[in-house]
Amino acid sequence: MMKKFQTVRGMKDIMQSESKAYRALENKLISAANQYGFNEIKTPILEETSLFIKSIGDGTDIVEKEMYSFLDSKKNSISMRPEGTASCARALIQNGLNDSINKVWYSGPFFRHERPQKGRYRQFHQFGAEFIGVENYEADFEIISLVDYIWKSLNINPTLIINSIGDHTDRKNYVKVLVDYLKKYETSFNDNEKNKLKLNPLRILDSKNEKTKDILSSAPKINDYISKESKIHFENLLSILDAKNIKYKKDDNLVRGLDYYNRTVFEYIDTKSNTQNTICAGGRYDFLFENLCDKKIPALGFAIGIERLMEYSGYIDKENKLVNFYIIILDEDNYLYSQNIANLIRNISKKFIVSNSYNYNNIKSQLKKADKLSADYCVIIGAEESKNSECQLKSMNSGLQENININALESYIKDNIL
Ligand code: ATP
Ligand code: MG
Repeated sequence: MMKKFQTVRGMKDIMQSESKAYRALENKLISAANQYGFNEIKTPILEETSLFIKSIGDGTDIVEKEMYSFLDSKKNSISMRPEGTASCARALIQNGLNDSINKVWYSGPFFRHERPQKGRYRQFHQFGAEFIGVENYEADFEIISLVDYIWKSLNINPTLIINSIGDHTDRKNYVKVLVDYLKKYETSFNDNEKNKLKLNPLRILDSKNEKTKDILSSAPKINDYISKESKIHFENLLSILDAKNIKYKKDDNLVRGLDYYNRTVFEYIDTKSNTQNTICAGGRYDFLFENLCDKKIPALGFAIGIERLMEYSGYIDKENKLVNFYIIILDEDNYLYSQNIANLIRNISKKFIVSNSYNYNNIKSQLKKADKLSADYCVIIGAEESKNSECQLKSMNSGLQENININALESYIKDNIL
């Protein structure tokens, strides 16, 4: 028997209609980011593995177990990008653009070898933006304000949760007291948590385990350990969010899984779902550049998981409702004439999709086909119509059919369909 090929586990095809919705959604995100003065950068899918180890951190889930890494023929360790921020920073440094303010966005596939389930794939898509070069809370506000603007343009309202995890020294001090506290309960932890306690204790804070959550409720809070500067930065951000009426929930236990974050961290979540409910995640990473180029450059950003956003918003592009025309020809001799009409319609509006029937069967079977393809209108051309420079335009919705001269077709369509 012939082998039936399938996608690699955890990866999926995005077929025609889903792809259309996907692109329309992506266009909305792009246009919002452009309006906020962000510009696109495209970085390669493959990077040196060490870039991710150095930036994301080696005690993190991504670096520890989720990367697709391999040795190339020269024995260099290469990885498929698991996220976008490290590559953006690398690209700005490499291109000598790290001295000024930079606002960039990216959109594309990312790869993580995790257990596939709803909202979790091995190839998924992120749209992200990075704001580099501004330390003030105004940059944090601008990033959150952009995401808020995106949600408004999609008519959705996920919940913003936010926290400040202070700067690296604050975090070191906090981790010490946190570990001292958690060690007392080590026997109640599962293996994964025990491992985190050793490698990345902060990650225990976002445990989904009820017993652990209980233990955490009286654990020391990071807020009590962050520096005065970090506190003021955070309070300034919150008060401008209040002033702009952007709703948020402070969450002491929100930490992000990547090492490079400091100060502001945030997520947008779907409160109606319990699993894989983070649609967007972001935060400040003032120490990432320093790690990569020995120069301190403040920055922050966010990434939206496109598959999760599609699922959450049930996105269909209502504003750009397309109109499908289906051309029915009854005789091969009229093919050229039909193509003139097809182009005439396409030129009226980008909303108009025009396709042809590729057979010259009887009209009934062609109309049936048009129906199956969800055509909105059929343009019917027989010998008579072509001789008189006319066509029949049939609305598949109302059934109304009119005979229209080709010279009047454009104005008829503009008046009645556009
Ligand atoms: P999670 O806790 O869900 O694993 P994360 O902290 O690993 O998320 P980030 O690295 O912050 O996620 O990625 C940003 C967003 O990208 C997530 O909020 C989510 O919407 C999406 N995302 C991350 N991993 C996946 C995946 N494997 N499949 C689909 N979407 C993903
Ligand atoms: Mg993850």
